[in-house]
Amino acid sequence: MRRKIAAGNWKMNGLRADLSQVNDINTAAAVTDCDVILCVPATLISALSDATTDVLVGAQDCHQNASGAHTGEISAAMIHDAGAQYVILGHSERRADNGETDKCVREKTRTAWAAGLKTIVCVGETLDQRKSSNTLEIIGGQMATSIPDFATGENLVVAYEPVWAIGTGLTPTTDQIGEVHDFIRMRLERRFGEGVGRSVRILYGGSMNPKNVAEISAVSNVDGGLIGGASLTAANFVPIINALG
Ligand code: PEP
Repeated sequence: MRRKIAAGNWKMNGLRADLSQVNDINTAAAVTDCDVILCVPATLISALSDATTDVLVGAQDCHQNASGAHTGEISAAMIHDAGAQYVILGHSERRADNGETDKCVREKTRTAWAAGLKTIVCVGETLDQRKSSNTLEIIGGQMATSIPDFATGENLVVAYEPVWAIGTGLTPTTDQIGEVHDFIRMRLERRFGEGVGRSVRILYGGSMNPKNVAEISAVSNVDGGLIGGASLTAANFVPIINALG
């Protein structure tokens, strides 16, 4: 049985005052049966890890190199040292805004593992790609290149995030989500063996909210959600945690 995950992605939102949301999220995390992860801006990692007992702390990116002359960048070891256990890698916003390629995501993932972080590697198709029926081909290609060898159910979580569903209020049908999640599971089993392939958790991300979480999380091979907007307030995130736990 894979334990479900409720992972929040605060993106470029959150000042120290916003950590007041974490009290209620922490209370929900303490009694739920799912893992609760909050991926906050790097500036809040340390304060969040001090403020919480039951929420796992995540970052939203790390550099592909372990250290060096990269002004303004943050290494995986620094993120780990600040108190994070997880890092999101290859989010479509970083792929679009920062030109991150699958190869770059693979290097970041390797570096994050070496620093002791667990990775949430994001894949997902654009609307044009879905319209031209390329979805599974795109997802398969992203997985093959973005995910390094030696993945395990411990170090890797995959997030399926259709780009067109992020922040738009649109979601794929449950059949469309199921098709992609079954495909991701099949590819994980084929590449890493049945044992590992079955143990990696696969999250759905894209406009998940308290209203649609139950329906989406009931789909085969959906092991939880990566949630942006609805993770910013306890009022929205706690019902999602409760639905997944
Ligand atoms: C995300 O940022 O990963 C995301 C899924 O955002 P939203 O839930 O706001 O669509």
